Amino acid sequence: MSNTVYASLPAVTGACLDPCDADQRTIVPAAAGLAALTPALTPRAVRVLGQIEQAQKDHPDVAKFLGLVALEIRKAGDSAAVLDDVLRIMQEQRAEPPAPCPAYSWCTETGDHDEHYSPYVVAPSRDAYGRDVLPVGLTDFTGTVTVGLLDLDLTPAEARGKLAELRVHLDHVEQLIAVAEQGAAIEHARADQ
Ligand SMILES: [Zn+2]
Repeated sequence: MSNTVYASLPAVTGACLDPCDADQRTIVPAAAGLAALTPALTPRAVRVLGQIEQAQKDHPDVAKFLGLVALEIRKAGDSAAVLDDVLRIMQEQRAEPPAPCPAYSWCTETGDHDEHYSPYVVAPSRDAYGRDVLPVGLTDFTGTVTVGLLDLDLTPAEARGKLAELRVHLDHVEQLIAVAEQGAAIEHARADQ
């Protein structure tokens, strides 16, 4: 009976009964000793092995793993207990999601930690070298929240002072742009004469 079942099964990668023979359909019926050691496959196991073989073709990245599962099913003769084991192992290995920071909603650290970091906020435009412009973030290393700005760790009041200076700087930038626009208008007027 077991020989008949095996003879109807295509070879499964990683689960060859004889590594020297790519077509197990020819060798298994003659392998009387092996058949005596191998339990008969249940119809369910046959069906699952067929599904595994298809999955190996569709998902080559996990074909080796699926081959090991198929090998265990062939050893056991049935698939239910093997698949239960696989499911249990996968659930055990699935890590618990790390706990979010208990102190700050803006902190990106998880689990047990003493130093708190926010994501960096950067200007929408990068410079010509692809670098971020004016990155700003919050940190707390000592129980006090500081603002990281211009590579400085600032108190909120100090950060507001720097921000005011930067706003004045941006006003100056706008004035320069206006000068450039006037220059362009003068050149156009000359060209039109
Ligand atoms: Zn934190």
